[in-house]
Amino acid sequence: MSSLDLSIVDQQTTALWDGLVPVLSEYIAIPALSPGFDSDWAANGHLDRAVDLITSWCRARSIPGKTVSVHRLEGATPVILCEIPATAGAEDAPPVLLYGHLDKQPEMEGWRDDLGPWKPMLEGDRLYGRGGADDGYSAFAALGAIEAVQAAGGAHPRCVVLIEGSEESGSPDLPAYIEALAEVIGTPQLIVCLDSGAADYEHLWLTTSLRGMAAGNLTVRVVEEGLHSGGYGGFVPDAFRILRRLLERIEDSVDGRVLVSEAWVEVPPETQAALARAADRVGAGRVGEAPLTPGVDPVTGDDPLEALLATTWRPQLTVVGQDGLPPTARAGNVLRPETTLKLSLRIPPKVDPDVVIAALELALTTDPPHGAQVTFSSGGGAWGWAAPPTAPWLNDALQAASDRFFGAPALEFGEGGTIPFMAMLGQRFPGTQFLVTGVLGPHSNAHGPNEFLHLPTGRKVTAAVAAVLHAAAQPH
Ligand SMILES: [Zn+2]
Repeated sequence: MSSLDLSIVDQQTTALWDGLVPVLSEYIAIPALSPGFDSDWAANGHLDRAVDLITSWCRARSIPGKTVSVHRLEGATPVILCEIPATAGAEDAPPVLLYGHLDKQPEMEGWRDDLGPWKPMLEGDRLYGRGGADDGYSAFAALGAIEAVQAAGGAHPRCVVLIEGSEESGSPDLPAYIEALAEVIGTPQLIVCLDSGAADYEHLWLTTSLRGMAAGNLTVRVVEEGLHSGGYGGFVPDAFRILRRLLERIEDSVDGRVLVSEAWVEVPPETQAALARAADRVGAGRVGEAPLTPGVDPVTGDDPLEALLATTWRPQLTVVGQDGLPPTARAGNVLRPETTLKLSLRIPPKVDPDVVIAALELALTTDPPHGAQVTFSSGGGAWGWAAPPTAPWLNDALQAASDRFFGAPALEFGEGGTIPFMAMLGQRFPGTQFLVTGVLGPHSNAHGPNEFLHLPTGRKVTAAVAAVLHAAAQPH
């Protein structure tokens, strides 16, 4: 049986990452917005430029037998697929699917003066710019890990690297591709998802749960046209006050506790224990480093385990947008006819988003104050995800890889956000193991301003994936 020379994996991945900055910078410079943020994406061609950049890099890798193809279903964003045959002797091992995405979040405001979303900038260990960490590095890391296994004398099963183009819009295009490419993908023994986060940069972090989402627009209408607030205020009920009262039905405004019982689940004891291990070692990690305004206290006080639980296994409401309220500079003394709030409710794994949306609608629209006209229109939902228990072979490989490349144990935590396709893959491949990891550690700020890719973590994650691929080729 082949053995993997970890010092060569170290060297190989270091050399890879030393050489990646130029191509990652080129990628960052492309405003390859996800289709949800650029309805003209096909005509604008940015996604295609990202596809071209990544595929030319992939094609130039010298991996024997590798194929690189671009798939384009009608009306859908393109998908890059690389297929790498198993190393000799590992042909019988079931395949591994490695996932990433190349579409990006929009610009966002608040970038540091010398930084910008489409302006790659290397500063120490950080490569700033939109999409480097979320999730442009994934294709390079996936192929780089496979190369490292081969260079280090190791083995790997057949590998399928799939890089999609619609993740940041909720992966609307992915299911059709998974269907169309079902034969190539086969039934993976392991899915490696390189699109997740890290609570710090000192450990290999395994994401074992994701929250889902239940969204909708809440509209309150009180009068048929705008009125002088001096002339009618006190007689006509204010739409905003009614919204406040309605929101009290679904969220305790004192402590932020969501009052919709359908949105709660019991945290599995083994999950609670794993989160406690993580909290003991790193505190609240990335969450604890949120850039709170001076004087602002976290909702969960100073208990790190509470912070981890609150952001992964509990529901939480955010009002993310509004219609009807003019900007302050243009706001006259007007009693507005109607106001709409866009509600975004994060829901724990295993909670049915449709059930929650129905519960929200019932709670918000029943018996409205002052008989106001209240509507709640669903903005769609997404399931969260909880990993199946980690198989012993994978756990051993992950712990060994984290010890070797991070000098510290691998730790588990949950992500508070949603990776929409994970629920789909979990349902489609119930017997499959998952390695969900990534480089989105403290301050890396995916989706926000000043996003950066932490290069040493990218390197270590690549090396860890190499070690796991080798383990996947061994009988277990
Ligand atoms: Zn992502």
